[in-house]
Amino acid sequence: MSERSIGTRCVQGGYTPGNGEPRQIPIIQSTTFKYDTSEDMGRLFDLEASGYFYTRLQNPTNDYVAAKIAELEGGTAGMLTGSGQAANFFALFNVCENGSHIVASSSIYGGTFNLISVTMAKMGIDVTFVSPDASEDELDAAFKDNTRAMFGETIANPALTVLDIEKFARVAHRHGVPLIVDNTFPTPVGCRPFEWGADIVTHSTTKYMDGHGAAVGGAIVDSGNFDWMAHADKFPGLCTPDESYHGITYAGKFGQGGAFITKCTAQLMRDFGCIQSPQNAFLLNLGLESLHVRMPRHVENGQAVAEFLARQPGVVHVSYPGLESDKYHEIALKYLNGGGCGVVSFEIEGGRKAAESFMKKLKLAVIETHVADARTCCLNPATSTHRQMTDEQLAAAGIPAGLIRISCGLEDPADLIGRFG
Ligand SMILES: *Cc1c(COP(=O)(O)O)cnc(C)c1O
Repeated sequence: MSERSIGTRCVQGGYTPGNGEPRQIPIIQSTTFKYDTSEDMGRLFDLEASGYFYTRLQNPTNDYVAAKIAELEGGTAGMLTGSGQAANFFALFNVCENGSHIVASSSIYGGTFNLISVTMAKMGIDVTFVSPDASEDELDAAFKDNTRAMFGETIANPALTVLDIEKFARVAHRHGVPLIVDNTFPTPVGCRPFEWGADIVTHSTTKYMDGHGAAVGGAIVDSGNFDWMAHADKFPGLCTPDESYHGITYAGKFGQGGAFITKCTAQLMRDFGCIQSPQNAFLLNLGLESLHVRMPRHVENGQAVAEFLARQPGVVHVSYPGLESDKYHEIALKYLNGGGCGVVSFEIEGGRKAAESFMKKLKLAVIETHVADARTCCLNPATSTHRQMTDEQLAAAGIPAGLIRISCGLEDPADLIGRFG
């Protein structure tokens, strides 16, 4: 299946019904699964056989959809989580423990920044943030003996910086750790980070993958390319026996292509229980079936709105990697076919007041704390998500009070621009 083009994988990947079976992925709305003998079930618990016993760990509907996402990314194994936050936490915590250190791009989603810098710090996991524009020498300098992962976002939410994946992968591998890339904004239709050296990819499927603002969810995919055993001293969780699973060594038993996701399911999903509901997995799959048709339209609308805004006298600055003038355009040509996604941010002249009055005049776009769905939405961080901050604090954080983020939906671009004009 993975030789098929990306569009065919969107439509048909992950699930192939047998004779007389449902054409659409069935929703297995069951917490548990029945077995004839205790021995049958015992083999599942020992990870000697694969199968289902309790939906907190695994569910067939989720596995069909995870298999599709793994195919889309070109990976060896995948899993769904209840949210993008859970996906990033699991991906990092699967290789870290108390005393570990992470090197992360500073240009990432606010929720992930908090997760790493506040919550994971409480677990004894330390972080060094680096600029996505840092030189290889500067990136090298951020690594320590206890570094276990490097992390970044292909297109950062909301800064719209573009990650030089090859550079980050080269540095991570030089230090014997995997590069984990959150590929939420481009989706595998826009960029497949494994083709550039990333080892693990994560998603907030809540965004374009679902694409309709219907279901919160996340996903993790393993490329199967990282040789855990070659760095066994760094990754005891993958390379030494797990006493909570009868002494199984994941990298030995499940190999390079299966170890990461099996450990993540068997340990982290078992203990944290952030499973995606099968209903949501079904809705996510409906979104995935049209992802390759929708993404080009989001990019086209983003480009049209960015170009329009760049011509307006009342606009101080527009960030969109598809604009030739954008700082990241060169990198976007390499990794994203010169485009971006549907998200554009711009700064309006006149700061907070001007932004507030702009937001009041919106007709088609609505005010929402969301991005990446079919309907265009807008957010002014200074008067919403960041309203506790002063103009000075906002400027220091690189979020001017007049900054507006637009997530261009699937409407007709002429209507979008008409309404903004
Ligand atoms: C939204 C988002 C997340 C968090 O995802 P949730 O599904 O809201 O938990 C993580 N990373 C990126 C890039 C996001 O845009």
